Amino acid sequence: MGGDQESYVFIRDPEYAWIPAIKTGNDDKKAFVKVPKYRDEQSILCDGGSGAKEWEEDSVPLKDYNKGVLPLQNVDGAGHLKPFPDMCQLTFLHEAGILYNLKYRHGKGLPYTRTGDIIIAVNPFQWFTDIYTEKVRNRYSRILVWEYDPDAGGGDPRDDVDPHVYETSSLCYTGLAFGGKDQSILVSGESGAGKTETVKIAMNHIASCQQGPNAGSMETSPILERVVRSNPLLEAFGNAKTVRNDNSSRFGKYIQLQFDMGTKAEQEFRSRDKATCTLAGSKCEAYLLEKNRISEHGPGERTYHIFYQIIAAKDKTTYWSKLAGTTNEQFMFVGEACTTTIEGMSDADHFANTVTTLGEVGVVDDQLMTLMQAIIMVLQMGNITFEPKAGDDDKSEVSSKKEFADLCELMCIDQNILEVCFTERTMKTRNETYKVPLNPKVAREATESFAKEIYSRAFLWLVRCINDATAAELNYKSGSMKDFGIIGLLDIFGFESFVRNRFEQLCINYCNEKLQAKFTEDIFRSVQLEYEKEGIPLDEISYDDNTDVLDLIEGKTGLLAMLNEECVRPKGEDQAFVTKALAANKKSPCLFANKTNRRGFGIHHYAGKVLYDAEGFVSANQETLPADLSEAASLSSNEILAKHMTNDSCTNFDNKKAAAAEPSRGAPRRAKSNLVSPTVWAKYKGQLASLMAMLKTTNSRYIRCIKPNKPKKPVLMQHVTTIEQLRCAGVVAAVTLSRSAFPNRMDNSVVRFKFWQMWDKEKFPSKGTKDMDQPVKLQHDCQALLACALAPLAENDPKTGKPVTIFCVGK
Ligand code: ATP
Ligand code: MG
Repeated sequence: MGGDQESYVFIRDPEYAWIPAIKTGNDDKKAFVKVPKYRDEQSILCDGGSGAKEWEEDSVPLKDYNKGVLPLQNVDGAGHLKPFPDMCQLTFLHEAGILYNLKYRHGKGLPYTRTGDIIIAVNPFQWFTDIYTEKVRNRYSRILVWEYDPDAGGGDPRDDVDPHVYETSSLCYTGLAFGGKDQSILVSGESGAGKTETVKIAMNHIASCQQGPNAGSMETSPILERVVRSNPLLEAFGNAKTVRNDNSSRFGKYIQLQFDMGTKAEQEFRSRDKATCTLAGSKCEAYLLEKNRISEHGPGERTYHIFYQIIAAKDKTTYWSKLAGTTNEQFMFVGEACTTTIEGMSDADHFANTVTTLGEVGVVDDQLMTLMQAIIMVLQMGNITFEPKAGDDDKSEVSSKKEFADLCELMCIDQNILEVCFTERTMKTRNETYKVPLNPKVAREATESFAKEIYSRAFLWLVRCINDATAAELNYKSGSMKDFGIIGLLDIFGFESFVRNRFEQLCINYCNEKLQAKFTEDIFRSVQLEYEKEGIPLDEISYDDNTDVLDLIEGKTGLLAMLNEECVRPKGEDQAFVTKALAANKKSPCLFANKTNRRGFGIHHYAGKVLYDAEGFVSANQETLPADLSEAASLSSNEILAKHMTNDSCTNFDNKKAAAAEPSRGAPRRAKSNLVSPTVWAKYKGQLASLMAMLKTTNSRYIRCIKPNKPKKPVLMQHVTTIEQLRCAGVVAAVTLSRSAFPNRMDNSVVRFKFWQMWDKEKFPSKGTKDMDQPVKLQHDCQALLACALAPLAENDPKTGKPVTIFCVGK
C-alpha cells in the first residue's frame, strides 16, 4: 500500500451497499478514496478489491465516519481479504465486514459461518457432496466429546472443523444425551433461503447420533426411516412452486424428535459412555397452510404439488375413473403448469413416491382412497361455475352441469341437495331460520371457500396420520419410562414484505416478531444479565427490543383484539377495523396510517416498515364454514369431509336485517351464522403461544438461512438483499450491540479468540497472544456473541505475572 495515510476501507455504494476501497486521506468534510473502476458483484468485489486492475478516484462525505467509511478487516499486504469461519474473529464488526466475510466464504464453496453459537447458512444453490458424508458427520461428533468430557480433547474442537449445521445438531444431541436438557433448533430465513433443507440435514444428523443399548444402526431403525421419510410426504401436500422457490413450504412446522432417555437411574447418571438417548419417534405441528393457493396462483407459480402429481399419475383412474385422459389445463385450479418436474423428478414419479410413503405411515387401502378422493373433489370443485337463475342476477344455478354431476357422484351427495348448499345461504336468528339466495359470484366464492377448507382439513388429517405413525407415545413399547427427551426443529416462514401485504403477511410477521423477541431474550438479555451478575460495569446498551410491536399486535386494544371485535359485529368491515385500530393505538410508535389508502395501515416491524392492505381481513379471519356447506360435507361418504369438517360451534345473532342484507352485498358472509367460533387469528395466537411455551423449556440454538441471490445461482452474492436478510435475522443488530458496548476495544484489539474458550482457564488454557495493557477480568461463559467484541484473555499478564482482568470500555 502507498503512503502512510492510506488504508483499506469499505465505502457506501448506492448499488452494491458497500464496496472495498483505498482511503488516501481526508479533510474536514470528505474522505478521499480510490475505488475499483469496474464494479460487479461477481468478480472484483469478492476479495476486498485487491483484484481490481484499474482504479478511479472518488470522495465520500464524512458526516458520520462510521456510517460512510468503514475500515476493512484483515487484509494482507497485497490487499487480500482474510476470511474467518467465525464472525467473532473479525477485527472490525460491522455489516460490511460481515457481508464480505460471508461472500468470500460463499464464493469458496463454504456455505456455513459462525457468529458465536449461531450458524449462518448461505444457500449455495449447488449440492456439495463432500460436506454431508458420513465421514464429515463423524468429525463433528468430536464436539460431543468436548462438551461433556473436556479431558478427552482440550481446546475447542470447533477450531478444527468448519462451521456446519452438524455442529448445531451435534451440540443439541449432546445437550440432551449428556446434559439431560431438551433442545431446539430455530431455523429462519426468507423463502428459498434453505430452511427446509437445513432442517432435513440437521434431522438426519441428529437421528444418526443415537447412543445407548437400543440404538441400532441407522439403516435398521424403522422409526428413523418413518420420521425422515415423513418430510417429503408433507412437502407433496404442503409445498408448491413459487417464483422464489420451486419447492416452497406453504406452511410452518415444528417437528419434535422424541428420545428414549433410559431408565430413571440412567437418567440420573449420564456420562459419555453411559447415556441412553435413542430416537423413539416424532411429532409434527403445522401452522397456517396457505389456503389461497388452492384457488389462485400467480404466473410462473403452481398450486400444491399433489394436484399435478395425481393428474400425471399412471394409475390415476384407480382413485377416480373420470380422471382418465385428463390434463392439467382441464382443471381451473391447476391450469397450464409452468413445469412438470420438481427437483429433477417428474410429477408422475413423485406421485409413486408419495403413495409409497403414505403406505409407510399407514395410509393404505380405504384411507388412501379417502385422501386422494378428497384431493380430487377439490380439483373438481374448481370447475363448477354458476349463472343467474331464471334471469334473476341475485339468484344462481350451476351452469357446468356435467362437472357438477360428476362432483356429486364423487362426493356421494344428491345433486339437488348440493346445488342448494352452493347457491343459497341459511340464515338464523333467535326465532327463525330462513334462506337467502346467492348471486353467481358469491356462489362461486362460496364453492372456492369450500374447496379450500376441504384441502386444509385433508392436510391436517394427513399430519395427524403421520403423527399417529411416528409419535413415540403411540408406538413405543418400552414399559416403564414415558418421559421423552425432545429436540425440536422449527422451520417457519420468514419475515415478509411485499408490494401488497395481506392478512396472511400480518400473521407471518406476527410470528416473526414473537421469534425475534425470543432471539433478543436469548442472546442479548441473557448477556446483559450475565454482566450484571458479574458486576461488570456496562453502559446502556441499545438494541432492538420489539415489545412495542408485540403490544400493538396482541395487546388489550391491539390489532388482534380490534379485528376479532370487528369479526363478531354483524356488519364487520375491513375499513372499520382499520379506523378503530388506528384510534385505539394512537400512542403506539409502531402503527401509522396510510394516507393514500384508508383501508391501509403500516407497522414498523423490527425488520422494517410494512404497509398492509386490510381488504379481506375480516373474512380471512373467519374460518368457520357456513352451516349449509358443513352440512353438505357431513352428508359425504368421505371420512375427511364427514368427520373433520363440522364447525366447533354455531350460534345465532339477532340483527335480521343485517343478516338478510349480507349475501347481496357481494361477499360470502359465511361466518355470520357461526360467530363464536374462534377466529383464525385467535387460534393461531394460541398455537404460537403454546409453541413459545414449548420452546421456553428447551435450550434453543439458531440457524439463520440466507438467500444470497434472487436468480438462485451458485457463487453469486447480491449485497443489498443479503444485508437486508442479515438485518432481519438480527445478525447486524448483534454486531451493533457489540459495537455500542465496546467501541474502543474493537478498534484497538489485534488478537481475539472465542469467549467460551476462556471461561475455564484450567480446562482450556488460552492459546492467544495478548496486546493489552489493560487488566482483564472475566469469570463466566457469557454468550459468545457479545464476548466476541472483548479483547483476548490469558491466564497471567506476562509483564506482571498476575492474573489478568478484562476491562470493559464504555462509551
Ligand atoms: P420456503 O420458505 O419457500 O419453504 P426454504 O427456506 O424452506 O424456502 P428450501 O426449500 O429449503 O428453502 O431451499 C430452496 C432450494 O435451495 C432447495 O430446493 C435447494 O435447491 C436449494 N438448497 C437449499 N439448501 C441447500 C443446501 N444446503 N445445499 C444445496 N442446495 C440447497
Ligand atoms: Mg421450506
